[in-house]
Amino acid sequence: MKVVVIGAQWGDEGKGKIVDYLAEDAEYVVRYAGGPNAGHTIVVDGKQFALHQVPSGILYPNKSVFLGAGMVIDPEALFNELQMLKDNGINWEGRVFISDRAHIILPRYRKMDKERDSQRKRPIGTTGRGIGIAYSEKSQRDGIRLADLDWKQKMDEFEGEDLEFINKYKDQLIKMRVDLTQKMYEYRKSNILFEGAQGAMLDIDSGTYPYVSSGASCSAGAATGCGIGPHDLDKILGVFKAYETRVGNGPMPTEFNDSDEAESELCRKVRDTGREYGVTTGRARRCGYLDLVALRYACRVNSIDSLVLTHLDIYDPMEQIEACIAYDINGKIVTDFPANVEDMENAKPVLQKFTGWKKSLKEIRKYSKLPKEAREYVEFIEDYCKTPVGIISVGYERDETFIRKNPWKK
Ligand code: GDP
Repeated sequence: MKVVVIGAQWGDEGKGKIVDYLAEDAEYVVRYAGGPNAGHTIVVDGKQFALHQVPSGILYPNKSVFLGAGMVIDPEALFNELQMLKDNGINWEGRVFISDRAHIILPRYRKMDKERDSQRKRPIGTTGRGIGIAYSEKSQRDGIRLADLDWKQKMDEFEGEDLEFINKYKDQLIKMRVDLTQKMYEYRKSNILFEGAQGAMLDIDSGTYPYVSSGASCSAGAATGCGIGPHDLDKILGVFKAYETRVGNGPMPTEFNDSDEAESELCRKVRDTGREYGVTTGRARRCGYLDLVALRYACRVNSIDSLVLTHLDIYDPMEQIEACIAYDINGKIVTDFPANVEDMENAKPVLQKFTGWKKSLKEIRKYSKLPKEAREYVEFIEDYCKTPVGIISVGYERDETFIRKNPWKK
């Protein structure tokens, strides 16, 4: 079985926790897109791990993990992360492999990234780690892949800081380098978990362009980013929060309005209980009501078979919950997700009210044990998106999760 886990919103949905949870039944875990800007937080037995490039499956002692061709790799950050794992007793050696087609982020790209964003009329709010530049060098056909490290003619083109950097990490990278397409064929009968980065709404093609990431954070990215055909992906899971968050600039129709007292109070509660601060950047995330228009769009364009609902516990104390079921764009009610940025910016959420459950969900491990009000919220989402919610997460610990439909079963 091949199971793909993507974020179904703007990232930070809790993919890391879900991948870690599902990895128990996977033989291999492959991260297929993004770079060191993606931050996954996983909490196991009270110990917190922040992973940026290494796939979340690494926390299991015997699993091998792969960094796919759709990724752009910062070797310096990668080896720091591996050192952090080692310092925490995670023995990664011989278990982390990188596709020979993955691209490398060079020191020059980081400078270019910051410069370019500051010169933009409408800055994207990039993390300045050179990721966007690495992807654009890749599309310009000027990038450098792991496979190129022993291509003499290409290596002769580098100089200065970049050359020093390449020379510093070259041998270690070559040791971890594999032909991932060949591995995917070799492991075709195994359980493989594909881990997406960022979220569906940040995908370069189907996201809120130009406020998107530079890679393929859609489900199809698992195929292109690992060297297998889309036909070979068995299940697509879309992880989403019970509310919405977004980091960086760009339209977010359901964002809590700071100038409204009630919404700004709600925002504070959600941000604090949900710990909505970036893992990589520490930036406070923008928070808002669950956007079902965007979620349904994400389900459609990614062929999501099953949704994974996280952070349901954040709504535990609330009297009432609201979710967006349509946009009011200059007086016109719209239920399809628009491509036009101006429409998105003008969109006002049309909200549906739900009664809160007012009790802690932390100990619940079975759907039928959820309070009726929580089930009503879940079932409304399923009905709206025409997609079942197969897994529910009620806390940040690995075991604060329950499965309604096991994705590893046909
Ligand atoms: P990712 O990039 O999608 O993996 O998401 P992040 O790691 O950036 O953010 C998810 C955060 O939410 C992490 O701190 C997780 O530990 C936490 N988390 C995940 N699921 C839940 C949940 O169901 N409830 C709560 N309270 N926290 C969760």
